[in-house]
Amino acid sequence: MRNTTRHLPDFIDHNRIESALAGARSSRKDDSLRIRDILEKAEAKAGLSMEEAACLLRAEAPDDAQAILETASRLKKAIYGNRLVLFAPLYITNECCNRCLYCGFQDTNTKLERRTLTDDELREEVRILEAQGQKRLLLVYGEHPTLGAEWIARTMRTVYETSSGDYGQIRRVNVNCAPLSVEDFRILKAEGIGTYQCFQETYHRPTYAAMHLRGPKSDYLWRLYALHRAMEAGIDDVGMGPLFGLHDPDYELLATLNHAAQLEKDCGVGPHTVSFPRLEPALGADVANRPPHALTDEHFTRIVAVLRLALPYTGLILSTRESAPLRTRLIEVGVSQISAASRTYPGGYADAQRAASQNRNRPACDSHAADHLSSNSGRPQAQQFATGDHRSLDEVVHDIVANHGYLPSWCTACYRAGRTGDHFMDLAKTGGIQKFCHPNSLLTFQEYLLDYASPQTRTEGEQLIKRELEAQPESRRQKLQSLLARIRNGERDLYI
Ligand code: SAM
Ligand code: SF4
Repeated sequence: MRNTTRHLPDFIDHNRIESALAGARSSRKDDSLRIRDILEKAEAKAGLSMEEAACLLRAEAPDDAQAILETASRLKKAIYGNRLVLFAPLYITNECCNRCLYCGFQDTNTKLERRTLTDDELREEVRILEAQGQKRLLLVYGEHPTLGAEWIARTMRTVYETSSGDYGQIRRVNVNCAPLSVEDFRILKAEGIGTYQCFQETYHRPTYAAMHLRGPKSDYLWRLYALHRAMEAGIDDVGMGPLFGLHDPDYELLATLNHAAQLEKDCGVGPHTVSFPRLEPALGADVANRPPHALTDEHFTRIVAVLRLALPYTGLILSTRESAPLRTRLIEVGVSQISAASRTYPGGYADAQRAASQNRNRPACDSHAADHLSSNSGRPQAQQFATGDHRSLDEVVHDIVANHGYLPSWCTACYRAGRTGDHFMDLAKTGGIQKFCHPNSLLTFQEYLLDYASPQTRTEGEQLIKRELEAQPESRRQKLQSLLARIRNGERDLYI
């Protein structure tokens, strides 16, 4: 049942955002001094006001730009250490009744091959992801009147219930679907949803109206309050974000901070995660192929750094929309979760697997096309948008471990131990990430190395675990050593 939005105020303070940006543009004098003060405050984990964020976004001097990136990088290390959470998206349906001009799934796209996974097809996708070593999935859905909350809940249940081999198991299901009513969100809560994720796309109302021509999504306020309703239904962990490329990126960033602050004020806790998708080319979506406000990689990197400084304890999520080298840079300045080896249409993982096996049985001269199919999109006519990082999960893990010293994590402990919402935030603020998340990363990484890793990744990974153990205080090291030994002896899913 849909609740009305007519009485709700738009809590985004558009005038304040415009004046913060105008103020930052006009006050050039003494900027460097002010920037140093702001960075000092941010490094003390006190966050940023919209005006301070605007000042950092508009800073022009190369030294200031460098100082912003370096401070974000230090802050990230201080809170998150070298841990990096991994997940994969899983598209369930590309049926959609909305007309979002930037999306390949929009209702008028007759070039798109429409597909909704059957239960068997869904199980096949899940087993493939489990066989790669994934433990955390983000389920993605188009919006369609016949595919409501009960049906979404059933697909979640199927994912949780599907296990492959001795160890394959999805332990956390996050959901990115259209905004629901409080009653419908309760249905997803009962099914064990991890994070509910919903992007506002653009906070700028005239742009929102121009981009969403038809369907329930054209109601700006219904979407703006989606995360409030999810929290009212008891879903403690919610994720937000704008879609960069539709309107002025700096405006979108300040509005995201405004949204996060309002959520905290009204619901007692801000977003668990923020994402920052950038428009990628999509079949039949002219806006995506020629973004009205495209931003450079440099500007995008600054945006991520400012987000990290503004929301020190919020997970920042990066998708495979971006290329591998840029992903590395963004991880350095703030990203704490990444997707890997993603397919952006329903059935994409099974397609890739079939293509890979055909490729193995084919003469070498023929294998080009299948290579492309297995490493890239497979069916461009079915996918939502094109991805920019086509490496396998093992290649990504090897790269982040061997070349950058990051510790991959598939941990799902907090959510399963009830450490969600404000409990998680309180924990994060008192150093809980080092106490719980880091040890749990080591345990899940050890599982990955034993069950899924290539020999090269295993060698690099075992060395990393050894180094990490040596850096632990004595009491924690002993506890971890005994848990790691139990995992090597065949136990799984141990956490602190
Ligand atoms: N249908 C639901 C909705 O719109 O909220 C959820 C699924 S939708 C596929 C997930 C997200 O994909 C959207 O919120 C939007 O930010 C993003 N998206 C849409 N078109 C895109 C494009 N061309 N490039 C990058 N991201 C895109
Ligand atoms: Fe449908 Fe979501 Fe794509 Fe809009 S963004 S067309 S609602 S799938």
